[in-house]
Amino acid sequence: MFSKILIANRGEIACRVMATCRRLGVKTVAVYSDADAGARHVAMADEAVHIGPPAVAESYLQGARIIDAALATGAEAIHPGYGFLSENPDFVEAVGAAGLVFIGPDAAAIRAMGLKDAAKDVMAKAGVPVVPGYHGEHQEPDFLAEQAEAIGYPVLIKARAGGGGKGMRLVERPEEFARQLEGAQREAQASFGDPVCLLEKYVTSPRHIEIQVFGDGYGNAVHLFERDCSLQRRHQKVIEEAPAPGMSDAVRAAMGEAAVNAARAIGYSGAGTVEFIADGSGALREDGFWFMEMNTRLQVEHPVSEAITGLDFVELQLRVASGEPLPFEQDDLAIDGWAFEARVYAEDVPKGFLPATGSLAHLSFPAAAEFAPGETRIDSGVRQGGEISPWYDPMIAKVICHGPTRETALNRLSQALEASHVVGCVTNLEFLGALARHAGFAGGEVDTGLIARDLDGLMPARDVPPEMTALAALQAAGLLDGPTGDDPWEQLTGWRHWDAARVHVDLVHAGEPVQRDITILAHGHFRVDDPAEGGGVELRVAAVSGTTCAVTVAGKTLRANVIRAGHIVSVNQSGRSVEFSVPDPLASSVDDATGGNAITAPMPGLVKVVSAGAGESVKRGDGLVVLEAMKMEHTLTAPRDGTVAEVMVAVGDQVSDGTVLVVLEAGDE
Ligand code: ADP
Repeated sequence: MFSKILIANRGEIACRVMATCRRLGVKTVAVYSDADAGARHVAMADEAVHIGPPAVAESYLQGARIIDAALATGAEAIHPGYGFLSENPDFVEAVGAAGLVFIGPDAAAIRAMGLKDAAKDVMAKAGVPVVPGYHGEHQEPDFLAEQAEAIGYPVLIKARAGGGGKGMRLVERPEEFARQLEGAQREAQASFGDPVCLLEKYVTSPRHIEIQVFGDGYGNAVHLFERDCSLQRRHQKVIEEAPAPGMSDAVRAAMGEAAVNAARAIGYSGAGTVEFIADGSGALREDGFWFMEMNTRLQVEHPVSEAITGLDFVELQLRVASGEPLPFEQDDLAIDGWAFEARVYAEDVPKGFLPATGSLAHLSFPAAAEFAPGETRIDSGVRQGGEISPWYDPMIAKVICHGPTRETALNRLSQALEASHVVGCVTNLEFLGALARHAGFAGGEVDTGLIARDLDGLMPARDVPPEMTALAALQAAGLLDGPTGDDPWEQLTGWRHWDAARVHVDLVHAGEPVQRDITILAHGHFRVDDPAEGGGVELRVAAVSGTTCAVTVAGKTLRANVIRAGHIVSVNQSGRSVEFSVPDPLASSVDDATGGNAITAPMPGLVKVVSAGAGESVKRGDGLVVLEAMKMEHTLTAPRDGTVAEVMVAVGDQVSDGTVLVVLEAGDE
């Protein structure tokens, strides 16, 4: 075993690797960019080396600098995590040339699987079923359009260098092909520096089922069963589970064998995942799955497989990389129970899942294991007080739940999501909670289209229950404040406001003013009225612990968590978080000079395309500007018919949240 390794990554995966290292007594070296100086992975490591500015190209993708850091700190090996340099064969070779060990497969295996087109060739030769399509060199739009016709619509355009759903476009009709191809190629070039795309037959009712494999340098290869990652949005995984619902022993054996053949075909060593697309229109079949790609690294969703096998995959990676053989054979492995993982992101779900940024003013999760199996496990690379910056993936945490049955594991997931509270930045927690309670999903109906089909029902509710606003008003009025402000509920018995029988509170929610009049009826007993709209709510509040209280309204008692962080009051109840701000009476509001005719950037990003020109008339829904944020493209469209008065940005501009991009002429329709 190694005595010291460097982790060439950040965020939760860097922390995850370090947790295992700590348990095994292996010392760790972190690397970090300027933006991550205060990050959790830096604090967790034994040593940390600064490697550059925030942009990943200048820091986390600087292989030579990372290798220098390993040499300078005496690390013997480099763990790449996922993303960044994890599947870069040149980096793997450079690590080896520097006399260090790369914790992962060799460069040849990564090269064989690195591009989806080449990988499909290798797999077809190894007798693994592959998705029909075109994966040659020709990239002329007309030629590809002909190929698409030959494959038959719907077709999927994929960047051959793709990952994370980027550079992927579903095309349902021939007339959309040219535009979608252009978008896919542009996104592929921007994200991977390689515009080459391949075409695949789009499998309808698809399920994404992947097999975890492990190989060692001694010719052993096993699979550690499957994960179902069908719950996706825009080809990105949202909730994963293991095993797959409806999986029979025969199909599992067939998929496992295909995956192990795939691993053997390239002499695979370390952890890898063979991804298949399966026909989900009926029961899973032995002839109903096809190879999509192999990921030659640890996956984000590996904890669900750890949960059902009881193994630590990072430990296995370290053992195999340090020259040990796999400590088991296929027959030694068995599935224990069921596990789910939900990916908690900073994103604005109602605004089309826009990646969000923010300071994590408050972060609390239910009691859980961290980076290690448990009924509930939380893997997070951020801490309270930390930042979700625009530079990196906006993941906040992975919530993983395990149980003896699928139902128990899913109930645990639902509860764990409800008990998670993030203040200071919007999250997808409520959306994940709705998914965890989705009747079809609970019934085991999983296919990649589920989220898109039921999107409306999964959207966070807009109306705020009156007791949540009432609790925010009580907190803002200081009626729940203890002397230190950090444990208010203990102070409920020591009211300092008996003199104030009535208190008026001004709040802001979703940009709208909210007013409440509070009447103190008795100890812990209030009436909270809305002076503007009328109506009110009577509630009793009792402390439970910390910032959690029991609220009784109309005979029903619910738990809520109420947090005050600076000018924000956040109330979390039954998995729903609502943020209010307490307005600063001194701040004056500035009139919007463009009077609602402006199209503004909804997030920080890079302007990729400007299709609007001053003086041009546009129709509602026309694309005006394409913004790239988090390596994904977002098209901003005209909110109404009109004439473009002015274009304020040019291709290549880096814009911040709220920057005016295009202005329409006032009042013209
Ligand atoms: P990436 O490497 O970008 O994650 P994948 O090739 O793994 O791309 O595909 C991502 C997702 O896209 C899959 O999980 C699946 O939902 C969908 N997908 C991929 N190929 C097909 C296909 N041929 N038919 C239907 N859906 C597909």
